[in-house]
Parts: sequence; structure tokens; C-alpha cells
Amino acid sequence: MVKIIEIKTHQRTELVDITESVAGAVKSSSVKEGTAYVFVPHTTAAVTINENADPDVKRDILMEMNKVIPFEGGYRHAEGNSAAHIKSSLFGAGLTVIIGGGKLLLGTWQSIYFCEFDGPRSRSFYVKIQED
Ligand code: ZN
Repeated sequence: MVKIIEIKTHQRTELVDITESVAGAVKSSSVKEGTAYVFVPHTTAAVTINENADPDVKRDILMEMNKVIPFEGGYRHAEGNSAAHIKSSLFGAGLTVIIGGGKLLLGTWQSIYFCEFDGPRSRSFYVKIQED
């Protein structure tokens, strides 16, 4: 079973906490032990796990990514969003979280983030729940 979840992003670069959406897919699947695979079907977005407590962590990640990979960098790609393509590949299009006792086995301070690198846009991501 694959669940397709739509989201809207609101900034050019943004980390959107999607943990509750993924947890909802786990709950509705009734799977107690297994894995949740999250996949982002976009070439200028990605998915990652990082801290959910201090919002400055998200801010710092984006600030530093935008420094290392600036929006304008003498790129050749005519669409003008090479920085977003590069960031997408660095973060990656998918990740896996273990399910135990019917819950995502994330650390206390971990959340799953949809990474927008070329927003704002209407986006989607897939969640596949696999039972052990
Ligand atoms: Zn492009």
C-alpha cells in the first residue's frame, strides 16, 4: 500500500515537518512491526530527519545550505534552479524509519522533514508501509 500525501510549501527553501503525516499512515495501516519508507518524487526537493525542538536548527541548516550552494553560481541549467537540484541530491529522495509497537521509532528530538529547495510549490510525497 502506498499513501500519496500532498503538501504546499510557502518559501523558496523550507523544511516542513511531515512526521505526523507519516505517523498517520502507519496508524491507518495497522502495521505494528515493520518499516515506513518515505519517498519524494521531485528533483528539487528531498526528505531528511533532524531536530524538532529548536527551530533555529532548521534555520541554520537552510542558511548554511544556501551559503554552500548559492542560488546563483554560474550554473548552466537553463531552468535556473540548479542549486535546488544539487541540494535535492545531497539530502536524498527517500528514507526509511523502523516501525515498532505500531509507532515510528524516532528519537525524542527527531522529526521527518520534507525539504523544499525550489518553492513555493504544490508538492507530494509517498509513504510505503511494509510489514515484517
Ligand atoms: Zn531544473
